[in-house]
Amino acid sequence: MKAPVALVAIVFVCAAATARAQNAKPRPEDTEVWKPVPAVVTPGKTDLDAPSDAIVLFDGKDESQWVDVDTHTPAKWDVHDGVLTVNKHAGNIETKQSFTNYQLHLEWKVPEGITGSGQARGNSGLFLASTGPGDDGYEIQILDSYNNTTYVNGQAAAIYKQYPPLVNAMRPPGQWNVYDVIWTAPTFKPDGSLNTPAYVTAFQNGVLVQNHVALLGPTLYIGKPQYKAHGPEPIKLQAHGDPSAPISFRNIWARRLPDQPQVHVP
Ligand code: MG
Repeated sequence: MKAPVALVAIVFVCAAATARAQNAKPRPEDTEVWKPVPAVVTPGKTDLDAPSDAIVLFDGKDESQWVDVDTHTPAKWDVHDGVLTVNKHAGNIETKQSFTNYQLHLEWKVPEGITGSGQARGNSGLFLASTGPGDDGYEIQILDSYNNTTYVNGQAAAIYKQYPPLVNAMRPPGQWNVYDVIWTAPTFKPDGSLNTPAYVTAFQNGVLVQNHVALLGPTLYIGKPQYKAHGPEPIKLQAHGDPSAPISFRNIWARRLPDQPQVHVP
């Protein structure tokens, strides 16, 4: 009868251990996660400077990271005094590199004394994914919206013809405006239909202007947007044909973000 006694004892000990585990008081360390350790990134000297893991797209010296959208030949905008000024005759430019999800920093300035009104006053654009030639892509508007009325889903910081900005955080002509944008690319099913839409969060001059908005598709000047499957794409800047004086850019950098959404670590 020794064996059954031993068996009962084992069962009893196991049951007691389980009960102890179930009744154990939760401890702070139960919910601590130690790995994987996030990569170390050295911030810029100021919040405007590129951090150590950024891809610098324009540092004030040259436009070698950019090409003409239609011909893919070197960009022919005007680099001078540390800034990049739109060449309206040369057309849109886009990055040589393609991106999926990213964080982008970009500074832009409307020239002092600019003339014109509505959409014809400092019009440019930041295309968060350049899906083709010309103006194909997803545009966050660049425009002089300082005391300049236009349709609100076409003013500065609007997702053009989709979402007006939450507020108008414009600085006047002659001063630098800062865009910080988080782009989450759309995803598509194997048959090309939409899986998840593109999302945009954007700050202008440190002020939240787009809060995780879901895009309806690429920007359209006329008509309703519709998604078409695409992969990683360049970032594009617009040489708009409005007759006002051209705007300038400086300090452009991007950080690639993970392709997959962040998951909770249990
Ligand atoms: Mg535009």
